[in-house]
Formats: sequence, C-alpha cells, structure tokens
Amino acid sequence: MVALLDTISDAITARDMAPPVLPSLAGLDRETLGERLAAVGVPERQMRMRVNQLWSWIYVRGVTTFDDMTDVSKVLRATLKDAYSLARPEIVSEQISVDGTRKWLLRLPKRGHEAAAPEIETVYIPEPGRGTLCISSQVGCTLNCSFCHTGTQRLVRNLEAEEIVAQVLLARDRVGDWPDMDSPDDGLIPNSKRKITNVVLMGMGEPLYNFDNVARAMAVVSDSDGISLSKRRITLSTSGIVPEIERWGETAGTMLAISLHAVRDELRDELVPINKRWPIKELLAACKAYPGLSNARRITFEYVMLKGVNDQPADAKALVRLLAGIPAKINLIPFNPWPGTRYECSEWEQIENFAEIVNRAGYASPVRTPRGRDIFAACGQLKSASEKLSARARAVAETDADTV
Ligand code: SAH
Ligand code: SF4
Repeated sequence: MVALLDTISDAITARDMAPPVLPSLAGLDRETLGERLAAVGVPERQMRMRVNQLWSWIYVRGVTTFDDMTDVSKVLRATLKDAYSLARPEIVSEQISVDGTRKWLLRLPKRGHEAAAPEIETVYIPEPGRGTLCISSQVGCTLNCSFCHTGTQRLVRNLEAEEIVAQVLLARDRVGDWPDMDSPDDGLIPNSKRKITNVVLMGMGEPLYNFDNVARAMAVVSDSDGISLSKRRITLSTSGIVPEIERWGETAGTMLAISLHAVRDELRDELVPINKRWPIKELLAACKAYPGLSNARRITFEYVMLKGVNDQPADAKALVRLLAGIPAKINLIPFNPWPGTRYECSEWEQIENFAEIVNRAGYASPVRTPRGRDIFAACGQLKSASEKLSARARAVAETDADTV
C-alpha cells in the first residue's frame, strides 16, 4: 500500500468549511422547491416558471449564490437570500489519492435528536474519458456483511433525497464540472467533456433500504432539464433486498449491480447475512425479472475475492452455471482490507485464474482495479469518522464500464 496521503486541499477555504446557516435549496426536487418558494410568498401562477428558473441555475449552472440568478427579479433574489441558501454539506476533509481518486468526508447538519452531526463519504474516481462518482445512501448500514467495513458501523440514519443529490453537486463543485459562467456558449457542457459521467450507489448504506429518498434523488440527477445524467449511467448496488429489486427497476429504471460474492447459500449466509432472508435462488429470480433487462442492459454481479474463502476454480465454474440465462457482467473485486478484518485478498494469480474461467464462459469479467487505497477510498473501506475512522470507500471504476 502506498503511503497514506492526508492532503487537505488548499482550495478548501474557510467559506467551504463554514456550516450552512439557512436551509439550503440545493438538492431539492421540483415539488419541494415549489413548497419552499410558496413559503416565501411566490404566487401560484408564477410557480412553474420560478421553479424552472431556479432548477436551471441550481442543476445546469451549479450556482451557489442567488445573486448569480440574473433572470430572477432582484426583489425575489433578496427574499430568497433572506430565507435560504444554496449551501452544500460541510467538507470535513478532502483527500486526493496518488491515482487521482478523491474522497470527501462530509458533515450533515445535526438534527434535534442526534448526538452528533452525521458524517458520510463520497468518492470520485477519474479515468480516461470518464469519471465515476460513488455516493452514499445511508449513514452507516444496518446490514453486517462480514467483509465490509461499513457494516461495522451502526446505522445513524437514512439520507434525505437532497443529501444524496448534494453529494453530486458538491463533487461537481470540487472537480470543476460546471459550465464556465463567463463563457459565451449556451452554458451546457457537452457530455463528452463532463468530468462526472457516471454515478454509482456503492458508498455507505443499502440503497434499497432507503428506497423513496434514493429514487427521488436519482430522478433529480437524471432530469433532462437539469444535471441530465442518463439512467444508463447510474448504477444501484444492492446486497439483495429481493422484494424491492423489481420495484426499483419499475420506479427508477437505473442499471443494477448485485453483491453476490458467493455461489452457495451456506457461504453467502456468512458473507452477506441478508442471504438468510432472501437466498441465492430468490435473488436470481428477482434479477431475471428486472425490468428492461437485456444484453444491452446487463446486470453486474459483484464478487469480492477473498483468499481461501470463495476464490477457487470450482467457485468460478459454479458462478458461471448459476448465472446461465441472465444477461450479466461479472465484476471481480480484489478485497480491500481494513483494520481488524479477518479476511485477506486473494493472490493475484488466483484472481487471474478465476477471471479466465469466467471469461472463457463468455462473460466480460473486468477485475476492478483498486482505486484510492492510499486514502482508504476503496470498496468496503468506507466508514465515516462519525464513529471510529475517517476511512471509507469504493473502487467502482469497472462496474458500468461498458454502458453508454
Ligand atoms: N450496500 C450495497 C452498496 C454498497 S457496498 C451493497 O452491498 O451492494 C458496494 C460494494 O462494495 C458491494 O459489492 C460490497 O459488497 C463491496 N465491498 C464491501 N466491502 C468491501 C471490501 N472490503 N472489499 C471489496 N469490496 C467490498
Ligand atoms: Fe451494507 Fe453493502 Fe457493506 Fe453489506 S456490503 S454491510 S449491505 S454497505
């Protein structure tokens, strides 16, 4: 492992660090934005127009002050400024890996009953021609997958839809992914020039246990008059909450990734304990029924490589048999160790053998290159500082590598 970088970016100014004082409009969906505008006296007959104006400033231009909203009347701008902000979550730290991966530890406003302000992590993984943002859906996770660091943290709470969207806004701020306000063009960045081209729900939490908020957030992120990220470039990863899988496909229609990790129920019960409730057979039946599934829209099966646990050639062969008939991609993830874990990552040769068997069976099986290991930003290393370590993460680069 490369030496731990602890680069707090120079660019984080005191302003970025200051907690928001007024409630933020950044991250809201149209309906809630309308309610906030109504609350400060915007008349119903103007509502659609006003919501559209703000929507474009917030999600196309990425403005962070009402002063920049030049087509909104000065009077309304002043009213909005008195009541609201466009603040993003507070950045506790920003770490930049030697490979360019960036990880933000974000602090959310404390609510009445909370002992401390909850913290989450968001990770950006740049690659040639694309950039993947890995976002969190919960603070911590209620499930206890035995190889996952996040699973050792007790759930603090579900994220609100706007807190999920805000991770995307903040990442776009930090990597410089908004149009240049001074440029004479139409203010849009062509998709080919975007820095964040893909979003994966692979940060902290089980997204299907925060279904409604995650669905609302993804509707905002994919809205074609706003951030406009295609649903084919959004991937939800689940440990296998079977009853919600089909509903997610119908409601949100994003790409799907399944944390499979084992081919036998006995082992999967141990690695992904939710398997006791919904075993492999039921999980795969739900996958087969996933709306929109086709060879062009395949499901990604994630498989973490654990030394001596699930990495034998017989496991690879069984995996291929198990997935027969499902349009699938297999993502082999080298295990990312964390302090106190009882697992080790498989030897490289073992991973290559495994990949070879899977490839020969006709599956693209990219081995996910661990990214950002030096800043604990790789899969399963994510765990916010609200509990013990400020380490947390994702190596998600290959998940949806061949989606358009
Ligand atoms: N809760 C969801 C999404 C977040 S986890 C899920 O489980 O799918 C995202 C991916 O990282 C999952 O496939 C998860 O199994 C994997 N992962 C967790 N801990 C890991 C670790 N230590 N090393 C490698 N991958 C890990
Ligand atoms: Fe939760 Fe996913 Fe980690 Fe399992 S792997 S504990 S579901 S975050």
